[in-house]
Amino acid sequence: MKDLFNLTGVEIAKAIKNGDLKEEAVYSSFKARIDKIDSSLNSFVQTYEKPVKSEGESRLSGVPIAVKDNICVKGKAITCSSKILSSHIAVYDATVVKKLKQAGLQIIGTTNMDEFAFGSSTENSCYGATKNPWDYTKVPGGSSGGSAAAVGARLAPFALGSDTGGSIRQPACFCGVVGFKPTYGRVSRYGLVAFASSLDQIGPITTNFVDCAYLLNIICGADDFDSTSSRISTGDFTKELNDDIENIKIGVPRQYFSEGLMLPVKEAVEEAINTFRKKKAKIIEIDLPHTEYAVAVYYIIASSEASSNLQRFDGIKYGVRQNAASLKEVYTHSRQQGFGEEAKRRIFLGTHSLSSGYYDAYYVKALKVRRLIKQDFDKAFSEVDVILTPTSPTPAFGMGAKSQDPLSMYLSDIYTISANLAGAPAVSFPCGFTKDNLPIGVQLIGKEFDEATLIRLGFSYQNCTEFHKRIPNI
Ligand code: GLN
Repeated sequence: MKDLFNLTGVEIAKAIKNGDLKEEAVYSSFKARIDKIDSSLNSFVQTYEKPVKSEGESRLSGVPIAVKDNICVKGKAITCSSKILSSHIAVYDATVVKKLKQAGLQIIGTTNMDEFAFGSSTENSCYGATKNPWDYTKVPGGSSGGSAAAVGARLAPFALGSDTGGSIRQPACFCGVVGFKPTYGRVSRYGLVAFASSLDQIGPITTNFVDCAYLLNIICGADDFDSTSSRISTGDFTKELNDDIENIKIGVPRQYFSEGLMLPVKEAVEEAINTFRKKKAKIIEIDLPHTEYAVAVYYIIASSEASSNLQRFDGIKYGVRQNAASLKEVYTHSRQQGFGEEAKRRIFLGTHSLSSGYYDAYYVKALKVRRLIKQDFDKAFSEVDVILTPTSPTPAFGMGAKSQDPLSMYLSDIYTISANLAGAPAVSFPCGFTKDNLPIGVQLIGKEFDEATLIRLGFSYQNCTEFHKRIPNI
């Protein structure tokens, strides 16, 4: 049998089922690997001595999984990698965690992230930055950088992340793994600490599309605890693990291949388009004319919602309390000392956009442009089945390269943000490597609730390519 860490999640589950592997041994082997490698990688915030699981069963029983530090696991610390939550213990399970437990997966620990998911590099964490497993001088992307780095480094076969503007896909791209953001409403957000409630979505990070389909089957579905969760039937995503993609129409938007896109990324993405063409998919050039406004619109809407969601961290209801002479001072000191710089920047930006006098000029205007962006997608999807773009304009950038320049950091999400504004499902997967051996990712965006076509295309692509099989040398 292959080395345990080279097995896919589904292979591990099968080996456990037929008695070739023992569940306990799988857990302790991954835990030992984390103990060995993660002192330099810093992808985990905590690992559990014993797995969190229940006796339920599924086709993934026994597979270890890591969850981002903003998803509640009952009885365990949840901090969103923020000082303000440093002493917080989750009092209930997120719906996704309940589902993982019922499916018999072994939750192994929580992963590092940008504080409250604000960022694209996992440098904004109170635990220090996570590194990129392909090159320790580079960032792993963010905000789910810990989850993507852990799966990239094979410290866990699976991880969950959350994606508000690209936080699953961009780190998956930088770490050479598959990162899937389902349709808004497909996966319950109950138990996910809210960043921007109209954009947030939990999704899986895996090394390949087979694992991705099996894991989506477990975490998707309606939930009475989340009023935005959809009742549209999920179906069985593993039925899409089928190589036939003939006549699927793939739209390629002109606007995503212009200025700022680095040459090696452009070339690798064009090569991926060729691969799909050879498999008889139809490639059609399309327009998404409002693309240039996406970043501006996103930062107004996401920061506005964040400023409102973060009000609860006041040292009284939630968060570490700084005692002071008056109630107002308790609030201000607790928030002053508890939040990091980027969280404060978002609170300022969002509070300003929502304040009377500016509300119509910024927040309402942003909502109107969000609608135009959504209409671009509706129109495009009347002609094509999916949209293909680069995931990020560059491969992983250097540690510290953008941390003093928030605007250039914000621009690294330029290709991922629109899918959140439109509520559409989207996935990033590896399609090449730079000369320096850094992964390059390609993104597919689907129609709302059509995760199935993304899985079919991704599976078919991985059937005839090897990029997803490369493992960093650590
Ligand atoms: N990088 C984006 C931001 O900083 C997206 C983050 C996310 O998806 N959580 O807001």
